[in-house]
Amino acid sequence: MAQIERIADDLVVIDVHYNHTPQVISAYLLLGERPALIESGPTSTVDTLLAGVREAGVDPRDLRAVAVTHIHLDHAGGAGTLARRFPQLEVYVHPAGAPHLIDPARLVASAGRLYGDALQRLFGDVAPVPEGQVKVLQDGESVLLGSRQLVALDTPGHANHHHAFWDPASADLFTGDVAGVALPGSRYVRAPTPPPQLDLRAWDRSLARLRALRPRRLLLTHFGPHTWVADLLAQLEARLQRNLQLVREGLAAGESEDAITGRLRAETLREIELRDGPGASARYELIMPVWQSVTGLIRYVHTSEQEESRAP
Ligand SMILES: [Zn+2]
Repeated sequence: MAQIERIADDLVVIDVHYNHTPQVISAYLLLGERPALIESGPTSTVDTLLAGVREAGVDPRDLRAVAVTHIHLDHAGGAGTLARRFPQLEVYVHPAGAPHLIDPARLVASAGRLYGDALQRLFGDVAPVPEGQVKVLQDGESVLLGSRQLVALDTPGHANHHHAFWDPASADLFTGDVAGVALPGSRYVRAPTPPPQLDLRAWDRSLARLRALRPRRLLLTHFGPHTWVADLLAQLEARLQRNLQLVREGLAAGESEDAITGRLRAETLREIELRDGPGASARYELIMPVWQSVTGLIRYVHTSEQEESRAP
């Protein structure tokens, strides 16, 4: 059974129970004239998602749209399965993400290199979204979801195909992964820096853009609403820089990727458990493993150095 929480008259958080674990991946159900979801979650949790939609009083056949913040499998892996089951659904996506919803082969291969044998168990099969149901949103374009007119904001950094969705009327901001990972009950923000499109400079600009909107509430995919907006964004910004520094130092000292991962893991564990008590880091590790963040950062350091050496 899905757990749902109504966080506004027209807005419900659905906990999709990723890997049978509560409060790791959320999807948002927007109620009103055009019932819609933000995020599909992975295919492995589509049935739980739909149970949550029903529990909120909506017949899934009445859903009109799914808007995904980006195409990583934990956010959009289930979009094709949903679209095939419900042909009335329109799937809204960043221009750079659209081709990978229509043909997920490269996306799945890339995720397979990261997750290996665990891919199928964690995310399930990834069905293509029928091309006619894919709707590309450009930066600044708005879309009616539920009863809200939300604005898509190009927010690269975590990925180059990332949208945040801004509701100027309520000052709610749906952040996908660009505002990091902060799980309920915790005030720790993990910096999700997976390969392959990580770009920390672009991420900084995206955070400045989000801050300038003065959001009242951040609605994270991992997980739920947070009102400590300034602290959350500041913590993410500092942690991105700190993690980059740790990886740069490790590479300069000739450390192996495993050694760097070990150092970042130890530091992260200390910080989370200092704030939230022993055992608190396991949920964070499930959704954004430290090794994956290190892999992304190492790749970013190498590619950004190459770009610098090519610059005139
Ligand atoms: Zn994610």
